Amino acid sequence: MAIKGWIEVDELHCKGCGLCVAACPQNVMSLDMERLTPKGYHPVHLHADGCTGCGICAIVCPDAALTVFREAKIKA
Ligand code: SF4
Ligand code: SF4
Repeated sequence: MAIKGWIEVDELHCKGCGLCVAACPQNVMSLDMERLTPKGYHPVHLHADGCTGCGICAIVCPDAALTVFREAKIKA
């Protein structure tokens, strides 16, 4: 059973501090240097597959800007 996770970023609250990037054990997060939030920060995003939905990023975010989802795929 492979577990797939993903995140949603509230760009009204993300301030691009990078704490979640440093905390992600899968190293799949980074700041999106191509985009700016409404407040002018580079928002975090997933730059690769491999998110497990562990939730660590959401726990460390001081601005509660992340929501984590996790999907369990069961092989037939
Ligand atoms: S999601 Fe939270 S911890 Fe991550 S860069 Fe944005 S404000 Fe910082
Ligand atoms: S849920 Fe876990 S693996 Fe996925 S981006 Fe957040 S810290 Fe990384």
